[in-house]
Amino acid sequence: MIRRIAMIVSTAALVGCIQARPAAYTGQTPPLPAVRALLGYSVEGRPIESFTFGHGPAPVLVLGGFHGNEQASVYVAEELVSMLNGSPTLLAGRCVVVVPNVNPDGYVRDTRKNVRGVDLNRNFPTGNWVPSDPRDGSHGGPASLSEPESQIVLDLVRHLEPGLIISIHSISRNRQCNNFDGPGEAVAALMATHNGYPVKPSIGYPTPGSFGTWAGRELGIPTITLELPRPAPAEECWATNREALVAAIQHEPAQSVALGK
Ligand SMILES: [Zn+2]
Repeated sequence: MIRRIAMIVSTAALVGCIQARPAAYTGQTPPLPAVRALLGYSVEGRPIESFTFGHGPAPVLVLGGFHGNEQASVYVAEELVSMLNGSPTLLAGRCVVVVPNVNPDGYVRDTRKNVRGVDLNRNFPTGNWVPSDPRDGSHGGPASLSEPESQIVLDLVRHLEPGLIISIHSISRNRQCNNFDGPGEAVAALMATHNGYPVKPSIGYPTPGSFGTWAGRELGIPTITLELPRPAPAEECWATNREALVAAIQHEPAQSVALGK
């Protein structure tokens, strides 16, 4: 699926909206809007890539595939890349950065955790990170940020200072929701008008070390955890959420959160 996107986007360039430049026009093919960048590598050396559209501060950051067995999240993020490539006017002047697959090693194994058995969505340096049994289904690692995949996401957030983050997951059917952390309720409610999902400030169970806790509650960035229904077909998830994602991208105002980097 990643390879499919690679065929339609421009060549690698600097990551980030402010630094991004369109690929040089060779006269052979029309310039395409996405700027593809290599952010780093997973434990097993698989590339973790971003696709950047547009320029400007306070970008919208969209993440897919935190959990490798939630493959519809990768599909939806990839479809977003394809759609924005084909219809850049949907950006409405905003900068959007999409990382379709945060956990490519888990993705190829269809496992929630990364290849070292760490739940990346419990591996962030939050105040509530706790050591856990490696056999635990949501083991957060030997320490926060122990995994290269988590470090890549953290570095990207600090670099971009996004005005909005949408992290796409999936959850057992009938529990799908627009979960928000930090000042994300307005965007979650806006998305609900399009996807019909409940708006929830909590997923219903503790998530120490989660990305949403770190980015939303502790850094103060509006952060949506978009929980798709599992096992709904990925194509159905995309159809349900396409307009919700466009609305979130076009939502105003978005301000960068100064992270003191
Ligand atoms: Zn998940």
